[in-house]
Amino acid sequence: MDIYSLVGERFPALCIEKNFSFARHTTIGCGGVAEVCLYPGSAMELCDVLGFLDERNIAVCFLGAGANVLPADGRFCGAVIRFSRMNAIRAEGDTIVAGAGVTGGTLLRAAASCELAGLHFLTGIPMTVGGAVAMNAGVADRHISDVLLWAEGVENGKIRRFSRSECLFAEKASIFQKKIPVTRACFAGEPSSAQRIAEERARYCARRSRLPKGRSMGCVFVNPPEGSAGAIIDACGLKGMRLGGARVSELHANFILCEGATASDVARLIAFVRGEVYQKTGILLREEIKRIP
Ligand SMILES: Cc1cc2nc3c(=O)[nH]c(=O)nc-3n(C[C@H](O)[C@H](O)[C@H](O)COP(=O)(O)OP(=O)(O)OC[C@H]3O[C@@H](n4cnc5c(N)ncnc54)[C@H](O)[C@@H]3O)c2cc1C
Repeated sequence: MDIYSLVGERFPALCIEKNFSFARHTTIGCGGVAEVCLYPGSAMELCDVLGFLDERNIAVCFLGAGANVLPADGRFCGAVIRFSRMNAIRAEGDTIVAGAGVTGGTLLRAAASCELAGLHFLTGIPMTVGGAVAMNAGVADRHISDVLLWAEGVENGKIRRFSRSECLFAEKASIFQKKIPVTRACFAGEPSSAQRIAEERARYCARRSRLPKGRSMGCVFVNPPEGSAGAIIDACGLKGMRLGGARVSELHANFILCEGATASDVARLIAFVRGEVYQKTGILLREEIKRIP
């Protein structure tokens, strides 16, 4: 029996999509097709589904807004799990508790309507709460780890709450990259005024206005201790470098744009940039983006 029928028979109420296109659900806009995509509606349902897939050795990958991933070309014979139905959000005093599938825009609108400041550094970052926590998303001076009080996830078949220190946050990393799905998270806001929040949002918006337009995954590489990855790639003369339909942005060299590229074009260009930078500077760039599957 195929995965669609297997899962559908065991979970008749579960939302299931057959032949899920990565190109249509990622910001880079390339990659192949997954056999199924599953949309659990609660942490409990997610737990049951993951247990069922695990018992049958069915490969799984988690996907949020698809803004920091490079899916491979070809067919993924497994199940993508998306969190868009786990999208409850509520304010509790000076905190906001949001489901993994809540988008950045919804989170920030909720914070603004409760007059809570402190989260608007996330303005303009394409994200879901789950993906942003897993990636410790942020900007130069502020990250999710600075505002998160706790995150809930599924570990070893059980729903469990992780304190901030248990999340093991690091530069573009957290414990949730080890196959532990985030189900919801609690963020601390600072009581403020509508005007201060609008100023905070405008400040972060302005910083983003110079980012490249077009299909990308945001920054491809983490900044190394030696400085900005974009500046290093630029200094190696790689701006505008093209392989197939993939191109290093002229505006920001840490962005690779997909202009009708295959995932393999993008992957080859990433490998080329990494190799050139290493050869010319001795710096080994680490990828920020996550490969799927
Ligand atoms: C134009 C552009 C600008 C960007 N600017 C920034 C920026 O300023 N700062 C920044 O930090 N990032 C930036 N990014 C990258 C991206 O927006 C962030 O990494 C964001 O947090 C990704 O969230 P997502 O929901 O899209 O996660 P996805 O890209 O879908 O997934 C990223 C990783 O998280 C995992 N994941 C997703 N959901 C869950 C979950 N519920 N539980 C566990 N793991 C999960 C995935 O398996 C994958 O490994 C940018 C991207 C683009 C395209």
